[in-house]
Amino acid sequence: MKIGNSIRLKISFWSAVLLVLAVGLSFLAVRFSSGLVLRSINREYLIDAVEKNVGMIRFAEAQDHREANSYIPYKNGFLEIDEDFLKEMGGVFAALYDGEGTLLYGEDPLARQTGTRSFRNTGIWYAESGGETYILYDRSIRQDQIGDLWLRGMVSETKSLAPLASITRLSLILLPILILLAVLALYLVTDRMLKPLKDVETAAGDIARGDKLDRRIEGIRTEDEVGQLAATFNQMMEKLEASFEREKQFTSDASHELRTPTSVILAQTEYTLEKERSAEEYREALEVVHKQGERMSALIRDMLDYSRMDLSAERYPLTPLNLSELVRETADALAPVGDSPLQYRVELEENVQIKGNENLLSRLLQNLISNAYRYGDPEGKIRICLERKESGVILSVEDDGPGIPREEQEKIFERFYRSDSSRNAQGTGLGLALVKKIAQIHGAEVWLESEEDRGSRFIILFPVFF
Ligand code: ADP
Repeated sequence: MKIGNSIRLKISFWSAVLLVLAVGLSFLAVRFSSGLVLRSINREYLIDAVEKNVGMIRFAEAQDHREANSYIPYKNGFLEIDEDFLKEMGGVFAALYDGEGTLLYGEDPLARQTGTRSFRNTGIWYAESGGETYILYDRSIRQDQIGDLWLRGMVSETKSLAPLASITRLSLILLPILILLAVLALYLVTDRMLKPLKDVETAAGDIARGDKLDRRIEGIRTEDEVGQLAATFNQMMEKLEASFEREKQFTSDASHELRTPTSVILAQTEYTLEKERSAEEYREALEVVHKQGERMSALIRDMLDYSRMDLSAERYPLTPLNLSELVRETADALAPVGDSPLQYRVELEENVQIKGNENLLSRLLQNLISNAYRYGDPEGKIRICLERKESGVILSVEDDGPGIPREEQEKIFERFYRSDSSRNAQGTGLGLALVKKIAQIHGAEVWLESEEDRGSRFIILFPVFF
């Protein structure tokens, strides 16, 4: 299944589950509490109606025909029922009974079922009739001349709760439809939201299937995380492509560089083996082969070092170290031996601390100093300086050789670049590229000050470390 679709389904499924739970629980809570409220209102209304009717009943010895009241013969007189006595109102019925259970006045739709039930001051009670539940309220009326009378009120709870029942029915039909619509809308919206994610997947798929490292995701809107993911993917591809290109270039440069010594060895051996040679000739041939072997070995070592540093700089942990000591040790080890005419000066500020890798820094110094030997004037000067400045720690290696023409100054830090004049000198063309890489690993800058015929000064600026 496509990545976007499975996430979409998951989002839709879980939002549906959560919606059903949230809506279902709120519905049950509302349904339950409104049932309670309606029941309690109903009861209060019933009690209220019965209590009002109590005041409408009076005993009279004779009828007073001027009033529009009802008169019911009772004992030695009449029960006078006020015209405001409510027999039925808003579904509430009221009926007046004597102590024996004879209906005297009013309406009682439940008379048949409940007639036999003796009256007691039990307050509210319930009865079933015709599939409906009724709430009943019995109220005793005791007055001197009246004796034992009962007023019974009743109201159908089923009818009063009917609106709630229809709301419930309607909700049970409508809510699932609404939830379904909401989930459907969410499903459609997530499609738009997850589009960049799908694009990432398609692009990654394209790259996995072929070598399309130049593949990018178009039309990214970076305001959300998915868009940012797509942007990060593009950046990653940019880096990957660049590093892949560098890798390709490096391999082709390396094979090109190795081809020269290999061809020399092959040509030399083929030529020498053509016929019998003198011991002297064999010796000369072996010397050529040995020299080229050395060159190849140096090339392979530098190439390995360079690609290691290029691919995993994290292999070289940086720790606080005393750069003054390290420079002195390396410079001393490379100092000219015997009575060389070369002036070799080491000017160091003491106890200069930086964060660095000892092996790499010693390699950097070796490369710069051996270049000064190789390209400088053999009877001239080499000066190695270390000083602490406000901008950082400055290390420089200076010679007074032929210098480097301006147009070559940028190029000499490139891999395998060797100026035409130095083609014959020993070296791999990787020395300065390694210097640059090591400086980068240390967060340092490297540059060159050189003028033709006035020598060269290579400068490294390390960041300050406290
Ligand atoms: P190589 O192995 O050829 O020395 P590098 O990367 O160390 O490779 O140097 C690249 C080129 O820069 C050299 O071939 C040389 O032409 C030039 N170069 C380096 N250092 C100096 C220097 N001190 N003086 C003059 N030219 C230099």
